[in-house]
Amino acid sequence: MTDQSYYAAVVGAGPAGMFAARELARNGVKVVIFNRDIKPGGLAEYGIYPDKFAMKEGLRTQFKQVLETPGVSYYGNLKVGEQADLSLDDLRALGFQAILVTVGAQGTKWLGLPGEHLTGVYHAKDLVYHYNQLPPFSQKKFQFGKRVAVVGAGNVMLDIARYAIQKVKADEVIAVVRRGPAEVKFDKKEMEYVVRNLDQRDLDDEFVRVGSRMSAIGQDPAAARAQILEALPKAQPSSSTTQFRFEFMASPVQILGDEKVCGLEVEDNELVLRDGEVKARSTGHKRILDVDSVVFAIGDRVDDTFGLPTIQNEFAKNLEPRFPMEGISYEAYDLAHETVIKDVFVAGWSRRASTGLVGLARKDGTFGARAVLQYLQTLNPLIPDETALQARLKKLGKSVVTQSDIRKLAEIEAEMARERGVESFKFGTNEEMLEKIMSVG
Ligand SMILES: Cc1cc2nc3c(=O)[nH]c(=O)nc-3n(C[C@H](O)[C@H](O)[C@H](O)COP(=O)(O)OP(=O)(O)OC[C@H]3O[C@@H](n4cnc5c(N)ncnc54)[C@H](O)[C@@H]3O)c2cc1C
Repeated sequence: MTDQSYYAAVVGAGPAGMFAARELARNGVKVVIFNRDIKPGGLAEYGIYPDKFAMKEGLRTQFKQVLETPGVSYYGNLKVGEQADLSLDDLRALGFQAILVTVGAQGTKWLGLPGEHLTGVYHAKDLVYHYNQLPPFSQKKFQFGKRVAVVGAGNVMLDIARYAIQKVKADEVIAVVRRGPAEVKFDKKEMEYVVRNLDQRDLDDEFVRVGSRMSAIGQDPAAARAQILEALPKAQPSSSTTQFRFEFMASPVQILGDEKVCGLEVEDNELVLRDGEVKARSTGHKRILDVDSVVFAIGDRVDDTFGLPTIQNEFAKNLEPRFPMEGISYEAYDLAHETVIKDVFVAGWSRRASTGLVGLARKDGTFGARAVLQYLQTLNPLIPDETALQARLKKLGKSVVTQSDIRKLAEIEAEMARERGVESFKFGTNEEMLEKIMSVG
């Protein structure tokens, strides 16, 4: 019997990181998870719409099991990065043989439009973090008016529309979509939550307005309309009279206002086929949408202060991977020196920003872990020792939480929910969470 093993760090405890940690631990690797947030779960905890209680609870149960897996340690409230609590070099110095980065896509994609910094302009990630009570976004004030534009065509756009309809109870919510009705990316299931508020007469007018531009590239407007309305038979009840409508083939060009938003200027597009793909091409015609709030739900980019080279919206990958999984590279790449960063791997939304649901992040984390396992096989095993890490964490002079703290916090929050007779309860600040954890010793 030998205590020799491999020693790996997983940075980020969203679905990709959690399932990666499980895969590594199941294969005999000693894994330490480092997570920026106190709680694990990432966007499963802080992105998925709060009312999806059963889905969120199911995922929490799975994450709990991961944290209980032998060989897994968890340190939350600890940020990794160039200017953070620990850098990638710190992790190397602490003896980690491989580092799997699953920190999601924490950067913001700015379009560079005039007026982006006005009060009333928001990015979806910040807002979903807010309404899911992730500190410090939970404490941020969001000022919504009565007419909300949501820019985007995917499920996140629909989540924001749902929030603006059901929680803000805006008079009007307008989905601003760059291409046409046949290119929308949302699922019928998500549409069911908002379709009750969809103004069908306005939708018909919208198809009259853009129909000829669809036909011009061979699309069938009636089929696209039917697809959007497929959600009707299972439409969820709505508690607001918000009018929800679409503005298709429109790209934002500037946000109007002095301090606060008072309009969104858009430019109309037509559709063109390029290399078999439908693209938007500006017609040059501009008009103003009368809105007082604008939310961009256009996807995110990775955090380029993390300490890994980035290309476009993502961390750079080794295009000729040593350990490909289904042909995909999970290997970080040093663009300046044109060489693979041999001990650093990326998975989940850190590998492909804002792409796919939890199931995909889980698969990607597992595959990323398998690439790490193959890399570890090229090294000598060692006797993993967390002593140096413990000493380093003490020196940070901040409260870092562990598995047992997470367990306590979950129990306290469940008790709070029971007392209040609500489905779920969350503390909105790190201070409260830490205080409660400490209070039970
Ligand atoms: C608004 C919204 C709604 C969604 N709804 C659904 C849904 O209904 N159903 C579904 O299946 N999927 C949904 N998804 C998709 C799903 O949430 C993602 O596929 C999944 O969470 C991505 O997992 P990830 O682990 O790659 O990243 P994330 O979930 O983003 O996790 C990243 C983790 O890294 C940590 N981290 C970040 N930076 C650092 C750092 N510097 N150091 C240490 N840790 C760090 C974070 O704390 C977090 O725990 C939704 C996504 C969004 C944005």
